Amino acid sequence: MSASTSLALPHIAKLHAYTPGLQPTEPGWTKLNTNECPYPPSPRVAEAVIRELGADGAALRLYPNPKSSPLRAAVAKLHARDLPGLTEENVCIGNGSDDILNLLIRAFCTQEAAAGLTLPSYSLYPVLVEIQDGRTAVVEFDRSMRLPVERIAASPARAFFLTSPNAPTGVAFANADLERVLASYRGLFVVDEAYAPFATENAVPLLARFPNLVIVRTLSKAHALAGIRVGYALAHPDLIGVLDRVRDSYNVNRLSQAAALAAIGDPAYYDGVVAKVKATRDAALVDLTQRRGWFTYPSQANFVFTEPRNARGETGPAVAKSAYDFLFRHQVLIRYFPSHALTASFLRLSVGTDAEMRVLSETLDAWQQAPAPAP
Ligand SMILES: *Cc1c(COP(=O)(O)O)cnc(C)c1O
Repeated sequence: MSASTSLALPHIAKLHAYTPGLQPTEPGWTKLNTNECPYPPSPRVAEAVIRELGADGAALRLYPNPKSSPLRAAVAKLHARDLPGLTEENVCIGNGSDDILNLLIRAFCTQEAAAGLTLPSYSLYPVLVEIQDGRTAVVEFDRSMRLPVERIAASPARAFFLTSPNAPTGVAFANADLERVLASYRGLFVVDEAYAPFATENAVPLLARFPNLVIVRTLSKAHALAGIRVGYALAHPDLIGVLDRVRDSYNVNRLSQAAALAAIGDPAYYDGVVAKVKATRDAALVDLTQRRGWFTYPSQANFVFTEPRNARGETGPAVAKSAYDFLFRHQVLIRYFPSHALTASFLRLSVGTDAEMRVLSETLDAWQQAPAPAP
């Protein structure tokens, strides 16, 4: 251990960093591992970024709008169709939704005030908690992946983080179930809706009745802006005030604010992108269901979670690993999560273009037909 490492706080020195999906730089990969959008953002985004930059970049001398105020107003307007009366007082913009999640954990979670989370869910949450030397209170799903309403409602956590639709399963939770949690849970209930644009329902209307509800959204997935880093929280103005006290004063840069405003200003374009991704997802679900005996969760996200079965009819962690490795050798990049029993025999496949999904399907065919290695 170097001198500087031994100076780090003990909980930081032993930290398990978040493992992001691989981002290969060489060509030839079919990249279905990080749930990015397979289509470009609205053409208005590049125009807006170039306009903001100007010919000489002079605008970059100046700090950005500290509260991202025009963007807050645009986000409030965007969600007024789910909840009339939402205003910029209900919105905080983050440097990606990961920034918002981090602010929530910094503001609400310590050793004494646990962060509640489900297993499985977005694997960043426990990392953010560890960075704060906090404690988690875990609620495990069973294989049905139905929401354990009573156990969440009874959680001692100060703040509970739920991903809906869930990652990596794609299973969405009905507002009726969220309401049952909110009827008795007294902590801060955070619903991470990164994938809600691909779902049939979202929890935004519940904000009107539950001041302890926070909804977290991102422009990384449905808006094809993972590279620009913009996400946001929707909540009661008092909670937004807490986030504003904790966040960096210039947490969203000028180019990102301009890009996000342009994206939100082109809803017709995104309705088209989302419809296309959903159609491709539903076709992928049919393809997987037609593979004899493969179990796949019903997905309301831009990915599917499936349990592969080899030529001998077997499932399990070794089978999933074999499929993952075969796909990797054929330059098809997907994700698998070996660390938990509920996920270890599954693969998560991001929804790509139709052409990418054909490559995936043909490579899965080849894997199924390849002689299985001896057990
Ligand atoms: C992708 C993802 C995020 C991260 O979004 P960013 O805005 O890119 O930081 C947050 N939550 C979940 C569940 C995600 O899948």
